[in-house]
Amino acid sequence: LDVIRSVEPRVAGAITQELADQRSSLKLIASENYASPAVLLTMGNWFSDKYAEGTVGHRFYAGCQNVDTIEALAAEHARELFGAPYAYVQPHSGIDANLVAFWSVLAARIEAPALVEAGVKNVNDLNEDDWTTLRRAFGDQRLLGMSLDVGGHLTHGFRPNISGKMFTHASYGTDPETGLIDYDAVRAKAKEFKPLILMAGYSAYPRKVNFATMREIADEVGATLIVDMAHFAGLVAGKVFTGDFNPVPFAHITTTTTHKSLRGPRGGAVLAQPEFAEFVDKGCPMVLGGPLSHVMAAKAVAFAEARTPQFQTYAHNVADNAVALAEGLSKRGGTLVTGGTENHLVLLDVSSFGITGRQAESALVDSGIVTNRNSVPQDPNGAWYTSGIRLGTPALTARGFGRDEFDRTAELIVDVLTATSPVAASSGGVSKAKYDLPSDVAAKTRAAAAEI
Ligand code: PLP
Repeated sequence: LDVIRSVEPRVAGAITQELADQRSSLKLIASENYASPAVLLTMGNWFSDKYAEGTVGHRFYAGCQNVDTIEALAAEHARELFGAPYAYVQPHSGIDANLVAFWSVLAARIEAPALVEAGVKNVNDLNEDDWTTLRRAFGDQRLLGMSLDVGGHLTHGFRPNISGKMFTHASYGTDPETGLIDYDAVRAKAKEFKPLILMAGYSAYPRKVNFATMREIADEVGATLIVDMAHFAGLVAGKVFTGDFNPVPFAHITTTTTHKSLRGPRGGAVLAQPEFAEFVDKGCPMVLGGPLSHVMAAKAVAFAEARTPQFQTYAHNVADNAVALAEGLSKRGGTLVTGGTENHLVLLDVSSFGITGRQAESALVDSGIVTNRNSVPQDPNGAWYTSGIRLGTPALTARGFGRDEFDRTAELIVDVLTATSPVAASSGGVSKAKYDLPSDVAAKTRAAAAEI
């Protein structure tokens, strides 16, 4: 830090403050974690300075022998960890991993047959007419994904994201009674919509997904199954999700982030069945530029950590702790979407406290508890104010929290939400953003949160 301070003391100050904040509050953001010192240290080194476009052994730059070593290692660890035939570790983030997956499917299923038809080997050899036809074909494909308002992700075909602009999109929801995915309804939708890509995976669905059934549905309609396991990769790696609930054997392509439940550096990765490997391998230059070699090195370290028995224990604790948190909230009157959890996250509907998700989020932050507001299915408050908060256990489990600590955390959350009330909006009526939380409750909770 002294070195950083000598150049820009404000950056050093922000780093120190971030550490203090993360230590003194309860981090319950379901997509966050604490990476190990080994992972963090691996990111701060000279690999950051190296350009290495291409793939292992096939680079467009000289002097990439050490990058080859770490990229090959990271891919090998990822293959072993997830039991995948092929792994690509260059994506800089989850959105990049999904872009690589989408374009790999387009390359494999639209471009490759078009090249055969036109009698050429390379896309550069297409004549202008064939190229125009191919570009039109790229833009005329369909993707079916989980609806955003029941926990799907923006990158699964929604309009603000490039995926929504690339594909004609339709979504499947959950059963309004149970909050669970209704596989018969997914099948019916897939048969009607006939997507090129069936997408599974979520950011805010608190249950397991049956990927064997998803693959059956994909096969029935001739779709390619992409599973985005960004949120629950740690539970797959730690063998909490096995059999039909492990996506890797069933998906044609599995994408992930490396920084959420997996506890690695910020980044993404793509796993693929052999028939898609050669297309995924062209992620750079298809949609990626030079890889972040220092981050690939840290991915290798994180995947190696995730292959240990200690990581399996950690992953099982993440899931057990989510149950403890859910039970702690329920027994104190909290309403949970789907009634509980089977993974690392809990979705609490805060409307029974008479407040919005936005008010709940802010009141909890005032009290040293960091969560994020989240829509609940059929949310009357929309995606900005919302009626829910999403709570995840990966980060605090990494800090050593067990069931008792999560029960205490549930108690603090319910105390704060009970003490929070909406106030009048300046435009009249009740505000969806402003709230009142007695300062002694916030102070007492902050102290209690720091003590757990
Ligand atoms: N996919 C899912 C399911 C996610 O939850 C997220 C992030 O929240 C992403 C993709 C995007 O990851 P990143 O923020 O690394 O681009």
